[in-house]
Amino acid sequence: MLDCLNLLDTAGDVYLDTLVRVAQTAFGVETVLISLIDRDRQWFKARQGIDISETPRDISFCSHTILQPDSLIVPDALDDPRFSDNPLVTAAPRVRLYAGHPIVINGFPIGSLCLLHPRPRQLSDAEQAMLRDLATLAEGYVIQRLQNTHIRTLYEALDAERLRAMTDPLTRTWNREGLEYLAPVLLSEAGASNMQLGVLCCDLDHFKAINDRYGHAIGDQVLVQAALRLKAVLRADDLLIRLGGEEFGVLLLVNQTDELEILAERVRLALLDKPMTCGSDAISITVSVGAAIKRDEELIEGTFSRADQAMYRAKTNGRNRIELA
Ligand code: GH3
Ligand code: MG
Ligand code: MG
Repeated sequence: MLDCLNLLDTAGDVYLDTLVRVAQTAFGVETVLISLIDRDRQWFKARQGIDISETPRDISFCSHTILQPDSLIVPDALDDPRFSDNPLVTAAPRVRLYAGHPIVINGFPIGSLCLLHPRPRQLSDAEQAMLRDLATLAEGYVIQRLQNTHIRTLYEALDAERLRAMTDPLTRTWNREGLEYLAPVLLSEAGASNMQLGVLCCDLDHFKAINDRYGHAIGDQVLVQAALRLKAVLRADDLLIRLGGEEFGVLLLVNQTDELEILAERVRLALLDKPMTCGSDAISITVSVGAAIKRDEELIEGTFSRADQAMYRAKTNGRNRIELA
């Protein structure tokens, strides 16, 4: 089923990330996941409180959850013979509470929304109702998402392996391989809808100083959060690409230059808005953005190159600003 939905190994997505973050706060649990069950693994489409992105299917709680129509609630995994010797229980993250609700698309259970906590706990009736409701929201979102044109094109053409090769594992945005595949898709959509193809090149300002001050691991977290903020202000069909290191590209369709400028400014403000919280550190970052609209006779590489030059102009003109090519 997942193969034909092609949800696996696609870029991360801000709405499901938001949903698991809300759940983490609402339930006061350490970890919340949207886990998708593949033939031999579970893959975390969205996660809070855990660093790994997949586990083998045979140690997954969720493969039990999807076999039943309602929530699976295990108040203390050590007391449950199905799970007491599970490596997720006997070693880190040392799960004691597990509560999962199946996510069902077109009648097929594809995964679950689940809560994990290292201390045993019951869920109240109100919490159980909320778990069901949040799983329903996740389902609704996935169904909507399937309407998205680019994704549909990908479904038709690619397998999970290919999709995985097109995403950046750290920021869960598209990578250059993804860009290469998707640029012609957007280009033909631009032609069909009589819109223009816009490119933003976004380079974080003085990022080296962040690594120097806080260390590379925190620098990585800042990159992850920066990508989430960018996804939050972009539209569903805009493509966010990690072009390299601390440089992101956006490929999008616009009616006119003004619209591209508005989106570039939105991207700039998304990072400026408030500091990123990484552990106990509050880290402020800014971004320089170059914007270009593809010319008729130009190859997309040429547009990127002009956007990149505009970005360098934004750097020399003081950073934390946008420049149009
Ligand atoms: P500016 O762009 O404003 O001119 O300054 P900068 O310090 O951001 O520019 P520069 O290109 O000199 O440095 C980019 C730094 O980004 C260098 C490298 O340490 C850091 N970087 C690149 N990729 C990664 C990564 O994946 N993780 C982390 N933590 N840092 C990275
Ligand atoms: Mg750079
Ligand atoms: Mg930089």
